[in-house]
Amino acid sequence: MTSEVAGFDFHCHVDLYPDPANLISRCEGSRIFTLAVTTTPKAWPQNVRWTDGKSVVIPALGFHPELAGERLSEIDLLEELMPQTAFVGEIGLDGSPPHRGSWDAQKEVFTRTIERAQGLGGRVLSIHSRRAAREVLASLAVKTTRARVLPILHWFSDGPGLAGEAASQGCYFSVNSRMLATEAGLVLARRLPLDRILTETDGPFTDYGTRRSEPADVSATVAKLAEVRNTTQPEMTRVIADNAARVLSFAGVSIGNL
Ligand code: MN
Repeated sequence: MTSEVAGFDFHCHVDLYPDPANLISRCEGSRIFTLAVTTTPKAWPQNVRWTDGKSVVIPALGFHPELAGERLSEIDLLEELMPQTAFVGEIGLDGSPPHRGSWDAQKEVFTRTIERAQGLGGRVLSIHSRRAAREVLASLAVKTTRARVLPILHWFSDGPGLAGEAASQGCYFSVNSRMLATEAGLVLARRLPLDRILTETDGPFTDYGTRRSEPADVSATVAKLAEVRNTTQPEMTRVIADNAARVLSFAGVSIGNL
């Protein structure tokens, strides 16, 4: 049923590659489902044009927490555009030292975005939570319900304890190759609930060998996850396809129709 899609990249900055149209064509050709996240609401129209008429590359409307401080006024545009798509990202909070100065702006952007997602319903969110996972989970618990919002924690970098809390709140986790190159990431990957694991690249911000990652590189992450979870690659492929089908169906997308 899901054999039509060869892999899933649930977080890729397609619009930040040198030639997005070419990358999208190759994703289409190799049938790699790609969630093309944006970093500012103003980038949305261009992302929509690039992905127009495409089958497996779907744009997401976002507002990166690292940009919330300098572009706070764009939150109005984000709220206005949100009825256009069920996919929202990249959004989130970043509590690391370089971004603590914009914490209040980040909180305003994140809170207003998830409130809007809750109001609209059927929204899938790709969420950044570096050094802010507890705050992200607390906001989701207060502002959203599992019936209306499905959060995916992208590149989750906190520990298994908080990951367990996130899972019990309904969160999924999109895992990339860089996470699995660290001991902490491997510990996490061994403990995540199997029915919540998705794959991503966060390209172009990760590498594959000596070049930047591309969505098709998720196959290497699936292989590594299979090894870490003591299962076969076909079985891990099936698990991720099933998880992806559940997430997409929440957003009203049938994987068989991609
Ligand atoms: Mn990202």
